Amino acid sequence: MIKQFIANSGILIAVFCLISKFFLSNIHKQSPFYMRLLAGAFCGLLSIVLMFFSIPLGHGIIADLRHVPLVIVSYYGGMPSALAAGIIMGLGRFLFGNVFASLVSFFISVAIAIGCGLMSRWIKQHISITTFWMNVYSMCLISFALFINIPDHRIYTETLLIFWPISIIATYVTVNICEYIRQSKDLLQHYKAWATTDFLTGLYNVRQFHTVLSEKMAQVKQKNSCLALILFDIDRFKSINDSYGHDGGDVILRHLGELIRSLVPKNGLAFRNGGEEFPILLISCEHEAAAFAEHVRTTIERHPFVVQKQTVHITVSIGISLFPTFATNETELFKQADIALYEAKQQGRNRTVVYKKQDLHET
Ligand code: GH3
Ligand code: MG
Ligand code: MG
Repeated sequence: MIKQFIANSGILIAVFCLISKFFLSNIHKQSPFYMRLLAGAFCGLLSIVLMFFSIPLGHGIIADLRHVPLVIVSYYGGMPSALAAGIIMGLGRFLFGNVFASLVSFFISVAIAIGCGLMSRWIKQHISITTFWMNVYSMCLISFALFINIPDHRIYTETLLIFWPISIIATYVTVNICEYIRQSKDLLQHYKAWATTDFLTGLYNVRQFHTVLSEKMAQVKQKNSCLALILFDIDRFKSINDSYGHDGGDVILRHLGELIRSLVPKNGLAFRNGGEEFPILLISCEHEAAAFAEHVRTTIERHPFVVQKQTVHITVSIGISLFPTFATNETELFKQADIALYEAKQQGRNRTVVYKKQDLHET
């Protein structure tokens, strides 16, 4: 019996690890409806697998831990996950014959699902406590089903005395491992975001810029297309800081980040390389890149930024460099964009200049 119990717990934990690998982000009650259904469906299938690995409890009675995945997925995904898991688990019982027992099992599975779905909404306790009560509720219904199937009261009592602790221990252990996986995944996502984004604007940071730049250059080479680096810098930002303080300047940078994010098309990515310098990488050639840069420039020029209840207008100067048209590597691409940006500043600011080797062209 202990062997089968360990085998069941092992399957539970291994499959939960696999399911969590399948989902990029953790399932919770705010996850999209189809994701919660899918998580429930996976757990329903896991319940069927567990039926194949039943635990002998003596006197020819067998039991399994099929309700444990349902309890856990109900906690995370709420009613949609619970119902998906419950219905699949109930239908799965028909694979093992005995139509009457399967029908009883089906209705009990659905009742467990509805109860756990409701409890996941009502009980606002720590996961161990909530799943404990869900487990107790499931075990009450399962004990009722066993009562129908085991006429001998002594055998029935002995069965429950073994099955209840097994169920409680298996649920507790699996819940703790699921929580460990969930927290590790959350932390990983948090650190990934922290390592790649700029905290002030939410745009990608300079480290990500260099990673993406090499990737995009390789892509462009392969596809024989062009990559434009659109580098812009706020004009006379020092005077904004002088007038509204560093915090006021930060408010503008934050709003500018939002504005840029809303302007960048699907074939582009925006970054903040520290300070008030923003590169945009766009898979496009000269004309499209210059037109887009002008669109960004004029939108920023017209946009009313609100700082300390006052409306502030800013302008940006833009330098564009092109790979492989003029630049042959990353260093050259950045240098040429910088030269073009410097030229835009020299020509009087609030304009776009494209780097074209010999001469620089204002658009
Ligand atoms: P130019 O038109 O020549 O670009 O003039 P500028 O005043 O914008 O000059 P420059 O680009 O050299 O100066 C950038 C200023 O931006 C200097 C610095 O005080 C300010 N700055 C850099 N990073 C931040 C930041 O994170 N927050 C705020 N508020 N200001 C910053
Ligand atoms: Mg500036
Ligand atoms: Mg600058």
